[in-house]
Amino acid sequence: MGADPLRGVADRWLTIAHEQFGADGLRIGAARACVLDVIARDAQCLVGAQEIIAAIRRDGGTASQASVYRVFDDAYRLGLLRRELDDSGGVRYEIVLPESHHHHLVDDASGQTIPFHDDELEAAIVAAARRLGVRMTGHEVRIRGVIPSRVTPVDGCRPPVDVGLGPQ
Ligand SMILES: [Zn+2]
Ligand SMILES: [Zn+2]
Repeated sequence: MGADPLRGVADRWLTIAHEQFGADGLRIGAARACVLDVIARDAQCLVGAQEIIAAIRRDGGTASQASVYRVFDDAYRLGLLRRELDDSGGVRYEIVLPESHHHHLVDDASGQTIPFHDDELEAAIVAAARRLGVRMTGHEVRIRGVIPSRVTPVDGCRPPVDVGLGPQ
């Protein structure tokens, strides 16, 4: 399944995550490895911790809720995850990986979040940071609106299709 771009992203993130956890002195036992596996697979776009816990249960994982939250906290602290609040104040996470950088469209009608990538937007943000004289360490963009019918709303949230993912 090496041709599956989502799997490729998951594998690259997992490699980095294992390195970072190790460098931080965090041992990766079976339970923690299972949590990281599910995050890599299911948190490529914004997802709540409860959804990850449910997915771990479906996969037969036994990690306690507290240990799952600890993995989220450690991964966030190590810069492996970013997080943002949804409209109801819940925290959602997604993995950080340069090649899966993207932003989000929010459909006014359904509240659904759809990932997108736009080179011109990225260039404009870099230029704005330069004009402001800041060394940019990150940025977030969320566009809200009515999704035109030619955009097929995806079920859940998927990584963008045009960021050069795919077999390297
Ligand atoms: Zn996303
Ligand atoms: Zn961006």
